[in-house]
Amino acid sequence: MPDEMEKLVSLCKRRGFIFPGSDIYGGLAGIYDYGPLGVLLKQNLKAAWWKRVVQEREDVVGLDAAILMNAKTWEASGHTKFMTDALVECKKCHHRFRADKVGETCPDCKKGTFTEPRPFNLMLKTTVGPVEDEGSATFLRPETAQGIFVNFHTVQQSSRQKLPFGIAQIGKAFRNEITPGNFTFRTREFEQMELEYFIKPGEDKKWYEYWIKERMKWFLDIGFKKQNLRLREYPKEELAHYSKGTTDIEYAFPFAKGGWDEIEGIANRTDFDLKNHQEASKQDLSYFDEETKERVLSYVIEPSAGVDRIMLALLIDAFEEVEGGRTETTESNKDTETVLRLHPSIAPIKVAVLPLSKKEPLTKLGRDIAAGLRKRWMIQYDETASIGRRYRRQDEIGTPYCVTVDFESVDDNKVTVRERDSMKQERVGIAEIGEYFKDKIG
Ligand code: ATP
Repeated sequence: MPDEMEKLVSLCKRRGFIFPGSDIYGGLAGIYDYGPLGVLLKQNLKAAWWKRVVQEREDVVGLDAAILMNAKTWEASGHTKFMTDALVECKKCHHRFRADKVGETCPDCKKGTFTEPRPFNLMLKTTVGPVEDEGSATFLRPETAQGIFVNFHTVQQSSRQKLPFGIAQIGKAFRNEITPGNFTFRTREFEQMELEYFIKPGEDKKWYEYWIKERMKWFLDIGFKKQNLRLREYPKEELAHYSKGTTDIEYAFPFAKGGWDEIEGIANRTDFDLKNHQEASKQDLSYFDEETKERVLSYVIEPSAGVDRIMLALLIDAFEEVEGGRTETTESNKDTETVLRLHPSIAPIKVAVLPLSKKEPLTKLGRDIAAGLRKRWMIQYDETASIGRRYRRQDEIGTPYCVTVDFESVDDNKVTVRERDSMKQERVGIAEIGEYFKDKIG
């Protein structure tokens, strides 16, 4: 892993963002847990997506479908047959790899050559109920999308939506990836944020282009650096069996082959899914158009994003090391200082309240201010160590604002607000502090 990634992975563990799952038992390959700060960052990311895709629109509704579905779903959707990657095995050490991710010689033993590629299904099998037989077997869903397609009719009827309209969902997905890796880039359990936007046949090109633009805009709005994002349209031969057109939003991951890799895919899935489910289930999944008095099978545009992968990209994008430290922290030997320049809407902790002394009356005043702000945002109160060190702790986890309570605060009812990136300081009245942050954080 590149040096920069090693540092980020270590920060993530040390500060409680992300660490290997069931670590005390040696972990489980491709599985990660999110700690106290990681869970907040993840919630903020999902909330930002939900706000943009569902809350701010009249034409999109939400859904939370079950992870376990009737196995017939996966037959009809094509996953049983097509959810495969080409697998090769080293003839010497017998380690297995994804064919498109390795060269001629085994990267582990460096000696062996590979067997012919064979298809390997990525769905994780499980059984439901007390009898383990053919009939009880199903899979943990490998994508959230199918939960939307099978519920299309019920959701459309209950929400009285007219075409074009969307159904959005955030939830876990599971893939038995042959080679998980690059931290949370490729894991075996992850979360997706998927929108299925249903449209009239023939309007697919227009909406496909619309959603590519919309989604790119969202990434910029949550703070991504423009130069680290790009669009990549798939050439025909790369398209999945269900797709008429796919464009990926890619991020400049430091470990990516060729410098870029996918964080979200926007696909024109035509009527592939509804048609297959209609045929397999013998249920009518068509839409009755009141204007033309015709029944149509909707086409669908799907922006499909990975929570964990976007979160990793956000952390990489925000991570910065300042050699020699930042000017105000002279007492800490001028070693390298880390700043996570996360957008305030995404940062796990919004404000840290730091009294200059560990004693009354500053501690009481500090705790009161923290209690007031906590009603709206995630706040940390910290009275330990020097002020420079406390600023550093907050910079390292991306807290955009620190509030310092000093001896003057008791007399003038003001505190000092320090902004993470510019390190500018400003005196703000305690009575106005809530409104002050409302403008800055939202
Ligand atoms: P890849 O080519 O990297 O395997 P994909 O094209 O199979 O990905 P999609 O099926 O389009 O991925 O899934 C949509 C999104 O879900 C991806 O853009 C990614 O952000 C996320 N995702 C997919 N697989 C994984 C995984 N194994 N771990 C983490 N996130 C994933």
